[in-house]
Parts: sequence; C-alpha cells; structure tokens
Amino acid sequence: MISREDCLQLDRRWPFAETRRGFDLPEGLIYLDGNSLGPVLHGTADHLADVVAGEWRSGLIRSWNPLPGGGGDWIGLARRVGDRIAPLIGAGPGEVHVGDSTSVSLFKTMAAAARMRPDRHVILIEEGTFPTDAYIASGLSGLTGLEVRFFTGDPVRAIGDDVALVSLTHVDFRTGRAFDMAEVTAAAHRVGALVQWDLCHSVGAIDVDVSAADFAVGCTYKYLNGGPGSPAFIWVRRDHLPAVHQPITGWMGHAAPFEMTLEHTPAAGIARMASGTPPILALSALEHALTAFEGLSMSDVRAASLSLTELFMALLDEQGFDVVTPRSSARGSQVSFRHPHAYGIVQALIGRGVIGDYRADPSAGTDRDGIARFGFAPLYISHADVWDAAEQLRAVMRQEEYADPAYSSRNAVT
Ligand SMILES: *Cc1c(COP(=O)(O)O)cnc(C)c1O
Repeated sequence: MISREDCLQLDRRWPFAETRRGFDLPEGLIYLDGNSLGPVLHGTADHLADVVAGEWRSGLIRSWNPLPGGGGDWIGLARRVGDRIAPLIGAGPGEVHVGDSTSVSLFKTMAAAARMRPDRHVILIEEGTFPTDAYIASGLSGLTGLEVRFFTGDPVRAIGDDVALVSLTHVDFRTGRAFDMAEVTAAAHRVGALVQWDLCHSVGAIDVDVSAADFAVGCTYKYLNGGPGSPAFIWVRRDHLPAVHQPITGWMGHAAPFEMTLEHTPAAGIARMASGTPPILALSALEHALTAFEGLSMSDVRAASLSLTELFMALLDEQGFDVVTPRSSARGSQVSFRHPHAYGIVQALIGRGVIGDYRADPSAGTDRDGIARFGFAPLYISHADVWDAAEQLRAVMRQEEYADPAYSSRNAVT
C-alpha cells in the first residue's frame, strides 16, 4: 500500500511547488481536468483589465500599432504568442500561428497538405480519433473528393503510397495512449506522405518535438491554460511555407492587408495561415497564461507527468480498477479507467471536490460503459493531490455514491 507519506516524499523532488503558487485554484479542490480546461493564473484577470482599459478604452484603434508609452501592437500579438508556444513543441520563432479554433485550424492544414500532394487522394485518420478531426476531414472530403481512410492499430502499417496526409492525434483523448511521433513521421515520409500531429492533449504536459513533421495543431485552453475557447495554434515546417496555401484566404493572411488589393497574395511567413481579425482579448489572456512556462524545462514537466500518472495507476490498481492507460511511457498526462458506472463515479467525485471528467466510448457497445478520465497537469498537481484524489475515489466506491439517482441522466457537457 502506498502511503500519503510516500507521496509527500515524492513531492520533495517535484520541481513545481513555486509554479503551482502562480495558479488561482479554488481552496480545497483537486483539479484533475486541466486536460479539458486549464485553470486561471493569478494576474490573468488584471492583465486583461489592463488591456481593456489601457489599450481598448484609451488607445482605441491606435492600439493595433505599438503605443507610444508601450503596449498595443495588437497586429503582432498572434506572432508573439506563437513564439511563446514554439519552444514547447520543438519549433522555432516565426513558425507558429495562433488564431482560430483547433477545428478550423485542422481544416486549413488538411486542405493545404492535400494541395501539396495533388497526385494522391487519401487522408489517413485513426478510427478512435478525437471526433472533430474526423468530422473536419470528412467536411473537406465533401468539398474536394479526397478519401478519408480510417485505420485501427499501428499507423505505420496503414500508410500506403496513395496517402497524401497522415493526420493523427498524438495522445488518445480517451485512453491517454501516445504514438511514437518520430517513428510514425519517418514511416510516412518514406512513402512520400505528409504528417500532421494534433497536439491538443500533449502540448504543455509532454516534451514534444514536431520539427521532423510537416504540420501540427493544438489547443491552448487545455494544458496551456489560455481560458475557455482560447485560440488554437498551427505549426508549419518552415521550408514548406512557400508551398503552403490554406483555403480561408482572408485579409489577415495577406502579404500586405492594408494595401487593399483585390488579389490575395499570401504573407511570406507563418502569417499566411491567418484569415480574419485576431481575437485580441483571448490572445491577451493566453499570452499571460504562457508566462507560467517561462524558464521551465519541458523534460522536467514530462518527468513529473510520468511520475504523477504512474502513481495514480498504482493507486487504482490497489482498488482493482480496469485502467486503460498504457503502463509504458507511451502515454500522455492522463489516466483513464473503464467502468459501467464511470459517469456516476466522476459526478460523485466532483461532489467531493475532485474534478475529472467522463467520456463516452461508442465502440464499447453499451453506452453506459464509458471512461472516467483524470488529467495530471504537472505545473499544479502534486503527488499528495494524487493520493488524496484516490482516497476520495475509495470512499465513492465504498459507499456506492455513484448509484445516486441524481447521476442517472447526463449533463449536456460531460
Ligand atoms: C480538445 C480537442 C480538440 C478541440 O477542438 P476545438 O476546435 O478547439 O473545439 C480538437 N482535437 C483534439 C484532439 C482535442 O483533444
């Protein structure tokens, strides 16, 4: 049996005690859902208030350019935020655009990739992918005639020479299984296919290196704590940029938007991935949230993530749960288990101040047999939190709190 004292011992080597103090977490709550919506940092609200008062209210339209006393320069904000995200994914400055939702970003990159391989007609997608990735591919297919081909199991075996783009979610949102990015990327390139990684469940929790791939996208409201609906990012390998033509050719992706010409000339750099006016308030909140990563080593973050998830799996084993997350290091920063009462268990835990979430798994047959999912954000979750959460789970199971009739119908958002 693992004791709380064992966990406090592990916390003595956990390097994020100071980082954790930067988060404004409600007292008494253990937040294991940072893989769905990260918490707010101290200071984000003040920063937003400053942007509203100093730049929007006082600077007004002048704030698109740099203001004389500092601040403003909204036109450069997407680029500045992208440059803060770049080191978290192994990218360089000027390679990351931030501005649309992940869904819209996927549409742009998938369409751009297809145009780069005009002699091929397949987008390869995993059957268990996050649904929006499949939905967007199918929307693009309706427009272009591209075939969306689904595979299960090892992607390397599924990549044929008719594949234009292999588009994968790096970490499975249900189980937490992670693909070997380097191996899959190399296999795709051997047959001339392009590779895109969806990093929604990786960025900010795992040390990823996209530099060998072609495209990447990712959310910023999960482990990057940018706030609900904060804009997603797109990374494009620098040497592809001149050949990348995304389809939503709005004026903000133009080489010279204020020349007001009729023809669209794409911007030379990553700005060509932009379309419309950037969401300045959302980008400002995100810019502040990313200060939490300043000076952190992503390999330290990764080591802490592995340690926290390993601990939670060991504690679930003690209670006999059906853990579906890989034991090997081929996993993200979450732990999931399958249970016929998964929804009720998650709700009862929330009632006890431990927030995780529930995900349906249509492939499991009965729709009651879903997944309870817990995310471990190393920047603010300690080993003692993990132990305390497991104790609450023990109480939920002992007292069968999951069977409460209040949990028999599901909320719109699970
Ligand atoms: C969360 C998530 C998304 C979300 O897409 P939005 O357009 O931002 O809603 C997309 N893909 C994956 C893999 C995700 O985990």
